[in-house]
Amino acid sequence: MINIIDLTLFHTVKTKKSKQYIRYYIHMPSQINIRFHEGLNEFLQPVQRKTNFNFELKKARSIKDLIESIGVPHTEVDLIFVNGKSVDFNYRVQDGDRISVYPIIESLDISPLNHCQPAALGESRFVLDVHLGRLAAYLRMLGFNTLYRNDYDDPELANISADEHRILLTCDRKLLMRKQVNYGYYVRARQPQQQILEILARFDLYHKQKPFTLCMSCNGKTQPVKKQEIESRLLPKTQKYYDKFYQCESCGKIYWQGSHYLKMQEMINKIKVTAG
Ligand SMILES: [Zn+2]
Repeated sequence: MINIIDLTLFHTVKTKKSKQYIRYYIHMPSQINIRFHEGLNEFLQPVQRKTNFNFELKKARSIKDLIESIGVPHTEVDLIFVNGKSVDFNYRVQDGDRISVYPIIESLDISPLNHCQPAALGESRFVLDVHLGRLAAYLRMLGFNTLYRNDYDDPELANISADEHRILLTCDRKLLMRKQVNYGYYVRARQPQQQILEILARFDLYHKQKPFTLCMSCNGKTQPVKKQEIESRLLPKTQKYYDKFYQCESCGKIYWQGSHYLKMQEMINKIKVTAG
């Protein structure tokens, strides 16, 4: 069967033996020209970055499928222009298309266009893959509802994200390419302290922090607790230097604003000032 996007040439020749005319096809590869912008370049091969490049189409496919076959998860893409016209993920790619692909760009007023990403969620809640345990604890420390277990598998993570409208955070682009994932983000930083800053910036969470409202261990709600009620469980230095405590309603763990928390706040405040 002839691929509908192939440029097919018909040639007619006369064979010597039969002296009959036969007709055969020459399949010319179909090509598109594509360019990825801004942070999407991080997903490309070095030679493909920040430049237009040709890509051979071997079969008819949607633009979402094409973009992911080049290595960019659909969760990272917000705007696509084909021959200057805004299209959505369902667009069927045609031979000769010139394509530009953009990530979410907050600063541009581009509302009349076809946005590929769903509208932002009212409350940012997360589910994290098994490699992001420290980031999960940091998000909870700052009061962001975060599901994390070190034994979630990929289908479970994708289903939780879809069913509960949670943003799936991962360093695994294949996980983000699962079709049921609508809300997802590829975490670039590798150090947990850098990762938390990246997430605060990406989802504009600097002013939405509610520290010590969630348990870092189990994501349960915490409540202020009187020092005398839990004093027997504290180490001598903690007893001596701290007076304000919180306790998890689910697992009973106790929290206070120790040096670890204060260091993180200092770091966040620095970034906040730099970011304006
Ligand atoms: Zn807890």
